[in-house]
Amino acid sequence: MTKAYIGLGSNLDDPQSQLKKAIIAMEMVPSTSVVKTSSFYRSKPVGPQDQPDYVNAVVELDTELSASVVLDYVQAIENEQGRERKIKWGARTLDLDILLFGDEIINNNRLQIPHVEMHNRGFVLLPLNEIFPDCMIPGVGAVSSLLQEDNAEDLVKLI
Ligand code: ADP
Ligand code: MG
Repeated sequence: MTKAYIGLGSNLDDPQSQLKKAIIAMEMVPSTSVVKTSSFYRSKPVGPQDQPDYVNAVVELDTELSASVVLDYVQAIENEQGRERKIKWGARTLDLDILLFGDEIINNNRLQIPHVEMHNRGFVLLPLNEIFPDCMIPGVGAVSSLLQEDNAEDLVKLI
């Protein structure tokens, strides 16, 4: 059994509902359960600024699956919820990123774990710190100390 942390984001088509629907879909993944869910936070877009604000959250999964099979499932959930891949960092109905997968370090053409940008992003660090305050990002450091250095002050807790 592996503990995995998934970052969720949406800024189209009722983002809060998109996240709730995605969490229900993750509960249906075989040999996997959602054990913790962070609050939802509103955040400013990264990249192109001419797009709506995001809603972000992080969930903790217990899974018997491999990281690559979890990626297959989360990509299927993105597609099911109308994800279209157009502009890099452009608006999307749903983004599901595997942040951490146990203590595994993975670097292949489909998957980089820990997620390469997670330590820079307040909208990942704040909800992750909420459900896993002792979290260490392999090769990077403690989420709690990254969060102090990081600018997470424009995040608004929603629910
Ligand atoms: P982004 O999340 O950067 O906006 P996408 O969601 O469109 O971009 O994902 C682009 C690609 O990132 C995916 O096809 C996937 O293979 C790859 N990828 C690499 N590492 C990860 C990860 N840790 N979690 C999810 N996708 C990843
Ligand atoms: Mg993604």
